[in-house]
Amino acid sequence: MARYTGPKCRVCRAERCKLFLKGDRCRSGKCPLNDLKNAGLPGRDPRARAKKPTTYGLQLAEKQKLKKTYCMLEKQFKRTFEEAARRPGITGETLISLLECRLDNVVFRLHFAASRNQAAQLVNHGHVMVNGRRVNIPSYSVKPGDVITLTPRAQKLTLIKQNLEEFGKSGVCPWLSLDPDAMKGTFNAVPRRSEVTELEKINEQLIVELYSK
Ligand code: SF4
Repeated sequence: MARYTGPKCRVCRAERCKLFLKGDRCRSGKCPLNDLKNAGLPGRDPRARAKKPTTYGLQLAEKQKLKKTYCMLEKQFKRTFEEAARRPGITGETLISLLECRLDNVVFRLHFAASRNQAAQLVNHGHVMVNGRRVNIPSYSVKPGDVITLTPRAQKLTLIKQNLEEFGKSGVCPWLSLDPDAMKGTFNAVPRRSEVTELEKINEQLIVELYSK
């Protein structure tokens, strides 16, 4: 299946959930999902009565939300789930920890990029280094203690400077540290599920049930 390249807000409207796919616009008053009541499903009359979802529908919706939040395709997401299921511990919580370790996600969380899509592009284009070595695989799994920096060329990019200036003020997640002047971040530890507050509305247990059928 090809990557979806249509309007990003449409994806959020379909899931009826803010997935933060557009950077600064998502945190501004321009986000159409700020008023959830009036944000109808795409292609559907907003006055039409919503059908009561089935159990399968609820499980599927939860999986879609998490998958689209991390901008992943079905195959990649399922592979990550299978990896989480192989590991000891609670599968749903391990899944979220694994997703948080993705290099594109870490680049986004360090505010080098305004969205995960933009972060994946920076990685794909070879602008990101892990422990001094260039890594161009967005799904690369970052380990505790890894240092994430940008290539000298990327450090001059206005886009990255703007992102750091705009989003850097809000600080970074507790499991990361950032030196904005050196454009250098450290992944200190794998986050626990409870620390990933952005996903507090996601019920990962439903995803485990979906894939366990
Ligand atoms: Fe659009 Fe971002 Fe709002 Fe989603 S969260 S609807 S991508 S502005």
